[in-house]
Amino acid sequence: MKILETVKNCKRIGITGHKNPDGDCAGACCGLALFLRKAMPGVQTDIYLEPLPEALFENIPGAETILNEIPAGTEQYDAFIILDSIPERTGFAEPLFESAALKVNIDHHKTNPGHGDVSYVDGNASSTCEMVYDVIDSEMVDRKIAQALYVGIVTDTGVFQYSNTRESTMRLAGNLISYGFDFTSVIREVFFERTYMQAKMLGISLARAERMMDGACLFCSLDNGTITRYGATRQDFEGVSAQMLLTEGVDCAVFIHETKPGEWRASMRSGNIVDVARSASLFGGGGHTRAAGCTIYAGTGTEFAEAAKILLADIAAQLEADKDKDLKG
Ligand code: AMP
Ligand code: MN
Ligand code: MN
Repeated sequence: MKILETVKNCKRIGITGHKNPDGDCAGACCGLALFLRKAMPGVQTDIYLEPLPEALFENIPGAETILNEIPAGTEQYDAFIILDSIPERTGFAEPLFESAALKVNIDHHKTNPGHGDVSYVDGNASSTCEMVYDVIDSEMVDRKIAQALYVGIVTDTGVFQYSNTRESTMRLAGNLISYGFDFTSVIREVFFERTYMQAKMLGISLARAERMMDGACLFCSLDNGTITRYGATRQDFEGVSAQMLLTEGVDCAVFIHETKPGEWRASMRSGNIVDVARSASLFGGGGHTRAAGCTIYAGTGTEFAEAAKILLADIAAQLEADKDKDLKG
C-alpha cells in the first residue's frame, strides 16, 4: 500500500491514534502528517491526539501541531486515518473517522481485524512507525520525519531488545539515524528516563509484586485509594510491567492498577511462553503476543479478586500447556 495513491484527490485528511498515546502512536501520526504536508502541500492534514507526555512532545517533530480536541465547525474529512489502534480505542476523534468519506487503518496489533475501506495490518511489524515508513515515499523522508518514526520504533521495541525487532527493523533504524538527529538523547528521554513520580510508582509496584506459579508469574495490583494518596495518574505507571518482567525466572508480568473506582487497567508482558494478547482478550483487550493490555470493570475486593483469578488462570493454563509440551519433547 502507498498512502499517496490511497488518498489521492483528497483535500482534507485527518489522522489519529489511540487514547493515552505512546511513542509509536504519536510518532506514526506525526511522521505521516509531516510527510503528507510535504508531499501534498495544498492539502489540509490534521492530527488528533490526547495531550502527549512531555518527553514525547519534546522529541517528536510535528507534535506542536497536534489538536487535543475537535475545533467547532470542523467539517467532514475526505480521508481519516487511524494508526496503531482500532476505532474503539481512538477516543474523542472517533466520530471524525466514522463520518469520513474514506476510512484508512494502519496497525501492527495482531488482534486488529482491520477496519474501514483500506486497511493494512501487519502483526509482525515491530511498530506502526515501521509500517508508516513502508507506505510513504522514502525519497521525501527528512530529518524530522526520520526522528518521529525513530521514536516509535525505539518505544515499541524497547530500544531493539524485544522479539518484535527484525533485521529489517534494525536496517530501517540505521537508515533513519543517517538523517542526523541526536538519537542518543532521543533514546534516553523517550525510553529510559522516568519522571520522579514514575520512579516512585515503580518502586512501590516492585515492592508489592508477588510471585505466583512457581515464580513464572509476577503479579501486582494497586487500588485507586493507594494511587490517589500519591497523586499518581495512569502515565506514572508506564513501564512498570516491562520492568517486572526483568525479574529472574519470570515469564509473565501482570501489573494492574485502578484508574478510577471500579475501572482497572491491566498491563502484561511475557518472555517466551505466555501469549498475553490471548489473556487480555478474555476482558475485551488485546495487543501483541508479548505485550498486551485490557480494562477490567470490577469493584475493589472480591469482585476484583474474581476477575484477576480468571486472568491468572489463563496464564497458568498457558504455562502448564508449555510444560506438557516440554515433557513430550
Ligand atoms: P500497555 O501494557 O498499556 O503498554 O499495552 C501493551 C500493548 O497492548 C500495546 O501495544 C497496546 O497498544 C496494546 N493494548 C493495550 N490495551 C489494549 C486493548 N484494550 N486492545 C488492544 N490492544 C491493547
Ligand atoms: Mn501504541
Ligand atoms: Mn505500536
